[in-house]
Amino acid sequence: MDLSRRVFLQRLGLLGASMVAPSLSRAAQVGQSAGQPGAETIPRATAVAGQRAGGVHFFNHGPGLGRRIAVTFDDGPTPGITEKVLAALRERHLSATFFMIGQRVAAAPSLARRVREEGHEIGNHSYTHPQLGRLPAQQVLAQLQKTQEAIEQATSFRPCWMRPPYGSFRAAQAPIAAQEGLGVVLWNVDTRDWARPGTERILETVLTQTRPGSIVLMHDLHLQTAEVVGRILDGLLERGFEFTTISGFLGTPRSA
Ligand SMILES: [Zn+2]
Repeated sequence: MDLSRRVFLQRLGLLGASMVAPSLSRAAQVGQSAGQPGAETIPRATAVAGQRAGGVHFFNHGPGLGRRIAVTFDDGPTPGITEKVLAALRERHLSATFFMIGQRVAAAPSLARRVREEGHEIGNHSYTHPQLGRLPAQQVLAQLQKTQEAIEQATSFRPCWMRPPYGSFRAAQAPIAAQEGLGVVLWNVDTRDWARPGTERILETVLTQTRPGSIVLMHDLHLQTAEVVGRILDGLLERGFEFTTISGFLGTPRSA
């Protein structure tokens, strides 16, 4: 477990969030997976909506009004996988948010553009997927800036939300995000699909854990996720959830 992350969570707790011993212990269990793309390590922190640190909001869920949720996909764009996720969303006329890795955008700019053209939001997920919480400020800024530029060049859209890989981002780093005009979004439903637990398990996790206001984390990185995403979306629709993007949920960082 990243010590800086623990400090970050504690600070959020001090700011009034209801924290989260279960997620700390669970995060420690999966911490050995850190270092792989997709191996996000901080599951299911609860009730951190709207906390401010260094002038930046950190969110792990949206407002619980209505039955709105935000489905998010990290670590793409991935040729051969992202298209399948897009098709599942398109068939159901749903919008999602894709937190993209800058170097993957640079490698597949037309796929990134297609995500945007199909009406989805794109967020910044760093350039090379490091643990930002362990990097000095200048490198964090470079990771965010290069990704902003890659996404803007590919899609003509400049993200206003970022998601730190592994959830690793210190409260003291918040001004760096603010400098780039970025708010920070985590998640509160973690499919752990990066561990390839099987399609049935991914489906069950989402359908049993999603509540109004949830931000659901998946990855457009593995075939398993692409294969089950249609059933996940159908299950959520059957339960009466309404889909929105992060900005649709939270507004922009300045207005949030
Ligand atoms: Zn990631």
